[in-house]
Amino acid sequence: MEHCILKIALDSPLDSLFDYQWKLQDETVPLPRPGQLAIVPFGRREVVGIIVAVSDHSDLPAEKLREALAVHVQVPPLSREWLDLCRFAADYYHRPLGEVAIPGLPKNLRTTKTTALDKALAKLARPADVALPRLRKAARARGRNAAITTPVESPAQAEAAVEVAEPAALASPVFWSATPNLNAAQEQAVASIAETMGFTPYLLFGVTGSGKTEVYLQAAARIFAQAHSEGPPAQVLILVPEINLTPQWLANVQARFPHLTIALLHSGLAEGERLTHWLAAHYGRAQIVLGTRLAILASLPNLKLIVVDEEHDPSYKQQEGLRYSARDLAVWRAHQLGIPVVLGSATPSLESWQHVQSGRYKKLELRERAVPDAVLPKVRMIDMERDRPTGGMTSSLIKAVRLRLECGEQSLLFLNRRGYAPVMACEACGWISNCAHCSAFMVLHKLDRKLRCHHCSNEMRIPRNCPTCGNIDLQPIGRGTQRVEESLQQLFPAARIQRIDADSTRLKGSAQAAFDAVHRGEVDILIGTQMVAKGHDFQNLTLVGVLNPDTALFSQDYRAAERLFAQLMQVAGRAGRRAQKEDGNPSEVWIQTRYPQHPLYAALRAHDYERFADVQLQDRVQAGLPPFIYQALMRAEARELQTALEFLEAARSSMDLPPEVILHDPIPMAMTRVANVERAQLLIESTSRVALQAYLTAWLPVLREIKPRIKWSLEVDPQDI
Ligand code: ADP
Ligand code: ZN
Ligand code: ZN
Repeated sequence: MEHCILKIALDSPLDSLFDYQWKLQDETVPLPRPGQLAIVPFGRREVVGIIVAVSDHSDLPAEKLREALAVHVQVPPLSREWLDLCRFAADYYHRPLGEVAIPGLPKNLRTTKTTALDKALAKLARPADVALPRLRKAARARGRNAAITTPVESPAQAEAAVEVAEPAALASPVFWSATPNLNAAQEQAVASIAETMGFTPYLLFGVTGSGKTEVYLQAAARIFAQAHSEGPPAQVLILVPEINLTPQWLANVQARFPHLTIALLHSGLAEGERLTHWLAAHYGRAQIVLGTRLAILASLPNLKLIVVDEEHDPSYKQQEGLRYSARDLAVWRAHQLGIPVVLGSATPSLESWQHVQSGRYKKLELRERAVPDAVLPKVRMIDMERDRPTGGMTSSLIKAVRLRLECGEQSLLFLNRRGYAPVMACEACGWISNCAHCSAFMVLHKLDRKLRCHHCSNEMRIPRNCPTCGNIDLQPIGRGTQRVEESLQQLFPAARIQRIDADSTRLKGSAQAAFDAVHRGEVDILIGTQMVAKGHDFQNLTLVGVLNPDTALFSQDYRAAERLFAQLMQVAGRAGRRAQKEDGNPSEVWIQTRYPQHPLYAALRAHDYERFADVQLQDRVQAGLPPFIYQALMRAEARELQTALEFLEAARSSMDLPPEVILHDPIPMAMTRVANVERAQLLIESTSRVALQAYLTAWLPVLREIKPRIKWSLEVDPQDI
């Protein structure tokens, strides 16, 4: 045999592996192995692919086969488990294997130039200096800080503390460093997780501030200790919902495990960093891998525990390309490896809650806040019909904020709408700031003097007078965070006000700087969107005001209530996280609403997720909605809506339907037009996941055969329909 055949996955929409020849060399050169990366010619380009199999046979005639150019021997092959994970995701979401496996790799590993790779490998090879110099430096800085603020416990921490030479800027304060004694509920949860034999999915159901983080960390510590006596160092993967939560997490993890290498994986890393961190995970060096959803596809040879914090969070669902759920893949991966997976939340997704009811997931429960004497905030409703807001704020809320200001405590005002005003209008003629390219309004951004569409790149100067009638008195309608910030400045001229939203944090590092300012107590009133609602452990924050949550109550999206409840519980959970001062005011959450009697708010007032979830699940059973049925959504885009609808209609009738599968009528999407493209959707449902999958598997090749000249995509388990 002179040649062997490499079956290679490439990042291509063609749903197949590609065969290449590889010339066998003398015996000193080992044969290529599955999981290795190879450089191959593809069309006129040279690209990097993953060798999936090595064979002596190809169905293609020999003269049609091209030669693979090189095999990356520097990097150890990706494991079979990893390839199986990618294959599962490819099958389940109905995408080619290469489109799953390749884009998940760091860019510097996917290029045919190896300079960056060589540099990263050299870094990894340097003895003692374990892969991540930047992180190590940060660890030292934190160790030093820990020595100042808290008694140093372990020898490793002491060492880290004395190692410090130069004072380094602290990215984020360290809240704890010494290991606290677990309370009974935490102890039980940690013991269950650490003693798990084989695959077990846990739902860690714990109110905000109940110390879920502590459970993850101590469970990890025990798993590290067990693995230490058995074999290679264990790896733990921790997924968090937002990039801007990673600094706080990193600080906490480093303070707890100063002697371990920690890798970060999220889209905010520079490519060089991304590669180094990815390799540290791939080599098994990084024992803790902390990341956002994309980290679920990391190569982790010794993975022993997966944690998905805030498992209900919609950000775990990728919304373009491969539309995967990182949470669902986490459960699959744990199952594949026979290890525990912990899904943590104060407001679990109804999917996970239903799995607890049916016994598939084990519930671990933390009912109380972990810090002694820190209690859940009191939730109160402000009836906006009686107490009419001015500048977005009712007089009761203004009074409450003033009280906190006087006590030197922080307030958080939550409004999930950025910009100054969501729309601008002319009262004289009825002109309204529609986007010319989308079925959406142009949002007023007063600071930039722009009207801006949040769905396409369209923006324009704020018109001086009405484009249709010339009226010079155009009015902003409604309010976003910028406008509230403006009112707050007028109401509280002496207060230090900080707005945190996607606009105020556009510059790299600015979000962290803003959060740090809050942590350092340099902010009195924080106004923000969902960016501030999640996960942050604000110590001095005692009041949360929710300005305008009602719109979600009557949304046609059946998940809107679930999302609103989770969001409000989350944001409420930012208040009262440390013990109340003896003479202090109890922490509070004020919700401005026109429907103070709404059952969703009643459940919120009682901090009663379970009641809320039970009612929701009953509704879903009756309405035949997930999690009791399974869905897929086909989307089509065209210049004309009719073209998109016709394609979906043709798709619908292209194959006979099995009895368990339902195809609905094609309809325009809720937001029909974006950037001059009209969008339509076709919903596919079944009471059986297996039947749905079998149907999709048979149907998609039929559609690809038709070779539609239209952009279409399929999403399994869609979130927004
Ligand atoms: P969650 O993730 O459940 O919202 P956190 O893990 O952020 O809660 O914990 C909230 C606070 O409680 C943190 O400041 C943490 O240091 C503290 N904490 C956690 N466990 C304990 C414990 N056993 N004793 C004292 N404080 C604790
Ligand atoms: Zn007008
Ligand atoms: Zn637009």
